Amino acid sequence: MTSQPSRTFKRLQAHLRGLVGKAIEDYRMIAEGDRVMVCLSGGKDSYTLLDILLSLQRSAPVRFELVAVNLDQKQPGFPAHVLPEYLESLGVPYHIIEQDTYSVVKRVIPEGRTMCGLCSRLRRGALYRFAAENGITKIALGHHRDDIVETLFLNMFFGGKLKAMAPKLLSEDGRHVVIRPLAYVAERDIARYARGRGFPIIPCRLCGSQENLQRAAIKKMLAEWERQYPGRTQSIFSALRNVELAHLADPRVFDFAGLEARRIGAMTEAEEDALAESMGSADEAVVAG
Ligand code: SF4
Repeated sequence: MTSQPSRTFKRLQAHLRGLVGKAIEDYRMIAEGDRVMVCLSGGKDSYTLLDILLSLQRSAPVRFELVAVNLDQKQPGFPAHVLPEYLESLGVPYHIIEQDTYSVVKRVIPEGRTMCGLCSRLRRGALYRFAAENGITKIALGHHRDDIVETLFLNMFFGGKLKAMAPKLLSEDGRHVVIRPLAYVAERDIARYARGRGFPIIPCRLCGSQENLQRAAIKKMLAEWERQYPGRTQSIFSALRNVELAHLADPRVFDFAGLEARRIGAMTEAEEDALAESMGSADEAVVAG
């Protein structure tokens, strides 16, 4: 941004800082001495994540390091100079991992099939390897509230699972803690923030992959709901933080088999008196009626 930030922008920035700070606190995402790797793709979400974390770092009660990391996947037309120039201008420590996952994916996946599954696995592998070799204690990703809600519906509609994206999780091999500090932030606010900041956005379809049609359909469904019933996406996200296992149906996470009513004989004397009294007053009510 070239001119002075407007009051509206400052309010938006304070809003984002507040939500990110709260998510970090709620899930204890960052602790004293952490070395946090911020994964940058060049999209609006990861730029916003880095920007807000840098701003929180200046006022946080704990000291932590930030290292920005980008994986250059060697996609045709990737403007390799954009991120280094931007990161130099911020003065933030950074590293560009160069790994040609693009050729691998192109070679392995038949033409016309979606490449995203293999591409993401290779990317994750490269980032985890860098983290392990560089003393990284937390890996920060730019997923936001709407990504989390979309993933919930994707898993329900196409996978038969009640599963979303956790704000904090342990990698499958147990070696890395992944955090999503934007978990409480709505995508539209990130888009507004990125516009206001004028981040040098790198287009995201350089790989030529088709858009994930299932995710696009879910996005459209949520946008339509949001238009008809403003606040619905937030309500769904709140539901993820307010789970009642006894009112779902998974016997692996709730002991339905062990549920038994207490036998009357097991009542205390006081409970028996209270029951007798209530039955008496019920009888009186019937007689009176
Ligand atoms: S859109 Fe392209 S770069 Fe992104 S995960 Fe899919 S294949 Fe990889």
